[in-house]
This record gives sequence, structure tokens and C-alpha cells, in this order.
Amino acid sequence: MKYCSECGKRITEKEIEGKRRLVCLHCGKIYYQNPFPTVDIIIEKGEGIVLINRKNPPYGWALPGGFVDYGESLEEAAKREVKEETNLDIKELKQFCVYSTPGRDPRFHTISTVFTGKGEGKLKASDDAKEIKIFKKDEVPSVLAFDHKRILEDYFNSQVKKIALYPGSFDPITNGHLDVIKRSLFLFDKVIIGVSDNPLKKFLFTTKERIEIIKEALRGFSNVEIESFRGLLVDYARRRRARFLIRGLRAISDFEYEFQMDLMNRKLNSQIETVYLMTDQKYSYLSSSIVKEIAQLGGCIKGLVPDVVEKRLSEKFKNIS
Ligand code: ADP
Repeated sequence: MKYCSECGKRITEKEIEGKRRLVCLHCGKIYYQNPFPTVDIIIEKGEGIVLINRKNPPYGWALPGGFVDYGESLEEAAKREVKEETNLDIKELKQFCVYSTPGRDPRFHTISTVFTGKGEGKLKASDDAKEIKIFKKDEVPSVLAFDHKRILEDYFNSQVKKIALYPGSFDPITNGHLDVIKRSLFLFDKVIIGVSDNPLKKFLFTTKERIEIIKEALRGFSNVEIESFRGLLVDYARRRRARFLIRGLRAISDFEYEFQMDLMNRKLNSQIETVYLMTDQKYSYLSSSIVKEIAQLGGCIKGLVPDVVEKRLSEKFKNIS
């Protein structure tokens, strides 16, 4: 809250000669100054975010925050405001975005740097807050003070993860598949490897074995999930909230098949987009079937597959022969 330096009464915004100015309505002093820097903080706690019910105008539920004090950094102001209004300590504080629309605060023109962070401690409302609560995404009140509704919409949109599904037989996984997986991890937040459990298809390795092998080959990788699936691929993708399918392309022949599949998947679910990664040249001739053939005939498959596959293939063919 800002007060007049002359008479100590509250100052307010008014249009003077076509410009918005801060004025003391009591003594008439006009303040020629820049917008006020403020901070707002999206505090993540438990499964939701912390909002305060304001005891000063503008009333209503809002993000904790306030004016930056003279001599303070934005980060210091954010931590102080959080402590004052919610009693929480804030960890992993990060700048999210800056909001500067002149009408965002009905009192003055403010420019707010919005932060995100994790709240630690016991909630207690004080200072500007008469009440405090944790809201899950779908419980957030439909009206919030300031422009906080828009800020939270932007925040929740930014939280939507890009999940991709890489489906295949992986009978067994090769270094060509691994290359596609590594590259797709740069593009997506999470990659689900969907191992086909099609009962009509004949596999060398059982579904359980193929999953074990992939898990071993991807040991140490984060943001990857491996599981089997049956039924329509697009239904499985929808269930797993994957908006993207990943496929690898090696040759023109792959293209023709993939093109047909894409058109069919699009017809079944137009929301899902397929992303094609061109094979690395050194894996362009590599397929699970070729690897199986070479291994069966006793040829060397080093460098074409992860070590675990080499071992499992030699065991498999020893048992068969
Ligand atoms: P599917 O039975 O679905 O063809 P695969 O395990 O043979 O299952 O292949 C899964 C995906 O991986 C396909 O998109 C395929 O084109 C791709 N792929 C297979 N081998 C390679 C490779 N060497 N380089 C790039 N992509 C590959």
C-alpha cells in the first residue's frame, strides 16, 4: 500500500491530462513516477497451490505477493512476502514470467515478476491474508483478484507434460531403437516405450523377456517408462495421455508402411500426432530380424545391440538348438 509523502494519506490512480498518474486525493500531490515493481508467487504445496483470501482491496482469493521494498532483490521480496502472508519457507524459487498490463492491479500500474517455488512449513495466514488454503488445479476459484486467473492459466498450461509413446515389437531392442529413444528424450518430457503384446504375432522373446531386456538396456535413463500393451495403439496412447507417437524411419519401404499407418491412426484419433525420426546412418540397415538371423547363424552382433541382448540371444539359440 502506498501513502502520500506530504500528508500521509493513501494515494490512488487517476487520469490527468490523458495520462494515468498517482495522486493524493487529500492534498492533491501528483506523483510522476514509473510503475511499481511487485512479485507474486505460485507456491506448490502437496498436490496443489497456495492462495490467500485478501483482507485488503482488491478483495478475493489471490496469489501471495506484494511490493518490492527499496534495497531488496526480487527474490528477497518473494521470500519475504511468502513468509509474511503464509508463514511458509520457499524452496527452489524460480522466475516464471513477468506481467505488466497497466490494468492488472486496479490501484496502480504494477509490473509483477511471478515466481514458482515449493512451500515448506505450516500454513498460517497473516499480513494481507485473512485466510489461506491449498487448491488443486480444478478447485481454484473461478474469480481471482488482480490478473491472477490469467497467471494461473499460463502456469497450468506450462505444466502440461509432452508425453510420447514409442510403440514397437522390440524383439529384441537394437542400438537403432536405442538411438531413436535417446533422441526423442530431447524432444519430450517423458517417453513411454510400448512393447507390443499382440497375441497374433509370433515373437522370439516373450513380452516379459522383451520388457526385462529393455529395462536392462535403459538402466540409468530417467523419464522413460516401459510397459506392454494390447489392442488399438491410439486407444493405448489416449489412456496414457500421450499426444505423440514416435516412429523411426530407415528406408523408403518403412515410409510407405508408416504413411499408411499414420493415415489410419489419424482417422481413428485426429488428436495424436506421429513424429518420425530418421535413423542414424550407422543403423540404417539394422533391424531386429537381421540381428536374430545373424545371431542364429553364429555371426557377431557386437555394436548392433546392447550387451544384454547379445547375451540373451546367445542363450536363446543355445536352448533352441
Ligand atoms: P514394429 O513391429 O512396430 O515395426 P519394431 O521393433 O521393428 O516394431 O520397430 C519399432 C520402431 O522402431 C519402428 O518405427 C521402426 O521403424 C523403428 N526402428 C527399428 N529399427 C530401427 C533403426 N535401426 N533405426 C531407426 N528406427 C528403427
